[in-house]
Amino acid sequence: MNVFVTNPHGYCAGVVTAIKVAIKTKKENPDRRVIVLGMLVHNQEVIEMLASQGIETFQDPKKPLSELLEEVPSDALVIFTAHGHDKKLETQATKRGITFFDATCTKVTQNMNLITAALEAGRDVIYIGKPKHPETVAALSLGKKVVLFDRFIPFDYKIITDKHPLVTNQTTISFLELIKIHDEIRSRIPEAEIIDEICSATRLRQQAVLDIPEDVEVIFIVGSPVSANTEKLTEVARISHMKARVYQIKTAAEIDDRSLKNVNFVAVASGASTPLETTDEVIKHLKAL
Ligand code: SF4
Repeated sequence: MNVFVTNPHGYCAGVVTAIKVAIKTKKENPDRRVIVLGMLVHNQEVIEMLASQGIETFQDPKKPLSELLEEVPSDALVIFTAHGHDKKLETQATKRGITFFDATCTKVTQNMNLITAALEAGRDVIYIGKPKHPETVAALSLGKKVVLFDRFIPFDYKIITDKHPLVTNQTTISFLELIKIHDEIRSRIPEAEIIDEICSATRLRQQAVLDIPEDVEVIFIVGSPVSANTEKLTEVARISHMKARVYQIKTAAEIDDRSLKNVNFVAVASGASTPLETTDEVIKHLKAL
């Protein structure tokens, strides 16, 4: 099987840093419980690797993080995830005497700082993102004047009273999608300040998917279903390579060899939180067919 592999693949810098923060905290505090509030990064294999090193994850989709934080013993060390968090959680932790560490990616922090500065200047902020994603939750928590633009719901422009609001976005959305949304906002609010905050790790991976040879027959996107940037790679692949079959898989175990019977040319891309070894196993498996 001829296998085309996109580059870059493997962890982005933000994921590497978050994992380092968690491991260092545990190493320096071997006798204390180290608890990540939510998924440190959106990949189950990473969460399992952390668990193998004694780093716990408190995650329950039915419970808000504030409730999970109440379940943390006060002598434990808490780590906030790479996606950012509601700053009120820090106040809550401090009140309970809990020591915490922040693994927020610098690119996310930069975006939150932009929003904070706009709010301090009394401006409205339109935030383009996925509802309930931790980064969106963090952005919306900054103030009531931050309004979510969810691409699946018509945006209510009446609630924006500012003539030149700041328009920013989740760092891991699709740039193809963002171009369309920016055009729409520009047509409705011509003086809006539009800033593209897609991070370079996400952008490079999406561009690499666009650059996959046209004659590829199947594209595998390796990553977790809860990873926003992986989900966007799948979307980009489906838009850019309409003749190819596109599968999003977590590991090589999900490849159905029978479906590749007469296939000669495939491509592999992976999300920014997918371990390199996982992608390498997929590549190895496909090459052996
Ligand atoms: S995908 Fe981008 S924003 Fe998210 S952790 Fe990686 S570098 Fe940071």
